Amino acid sequence: MKSERESRQDIVEVCRRMYGRGLISGGDGNVSIRLGADRILSTPSGLNKGFITPRDLIVTDGAGKRLQGAWRPTSELRMHLEAYRRRADIGAVIHAHPPHTVAFSLAGQKLPQCAMPEVVMMFGSIPMASYATPCTEEGPRAIADLIGECDALIIERHGTLTVGPDVFSAYDKLEKVEHSAEVCAAARLIGPVKPLPQEEVAKLLELRQSLGLSGKVYPCNRCGMCGRGEDVPPADGDVAAIAARIARSIQEKLSHGGKEG
Ligand SMILES: [Zn+2]
Repeated sequence: MKSERESRQDIVEVCRRMYGRGLISGGDGNVSIRLGADRILSTPSGLNKGFITPRDLIVTDGAGKRLQGAWRPTSELRMHLEAYRRRADIGAVIHAHPPHTVAFSLAGQKLPQCAMPEVVMMFGSIPMASYATPCTEEGPRAIADLIGECDALIIERHGTLTVGPDVFSAYDKLEKVEHSAEVCAAARLIGPVKPLPQEEVAKLLELRQSLGLSGKVYPCNRCGMCGRGEDVPPADGDVAAIAARIARSIQEKLSHGGKEG
């Protein structure tokens, strides 16, 4: 467990990187670390994260009441607190406004699913929470159901929420979401994005399982491999069941002579 001093430095480091990579602008975005059962260290409201210092950070309780620090808590802290409430396994939350990712949602599109192997390995797929008026109670409500089932989500017309055991893990996920949006946007300029075949997706998920990668997997619903409706996540930790279902569906297809129903 890191000290509060180290956690402050880690948040500042992540803020600088987010700003440097253009994942936020102006006063956008917020980063938090769970210091203890009822102590959350976070970036305050309004400050430009490119210039933030460890002393600018504030400590609140789990309900968002300020315990320490000069600045006001951000209204978006409510999304972080919702994530901490729903996920005992996470220690950090990052909210950012990565431009390519937001651009997809402005165009009314989800990120192409089952396209890049490392994205399948890391996330399964990346779900989108419906639009919520920023800085209101709608924010935590919009992400409430999804954040229990995934480590990265897109908030429509707004940004991303990524979580992890530590702040660098949540940051890696943010970079990965935006990188995949950037690559998919570039690919679309060249031609339609072709998804990986179902059996390759299944292999990646099996590989993920065998490597024991931590975090949640939100399975792709585009190819129907999870056998569930649009945007309905599987039960917690159900990766093996998903892989088995895919294997069954491939088997069924083969036994029907490969003809699609
Ligand atoms: Zn925001």
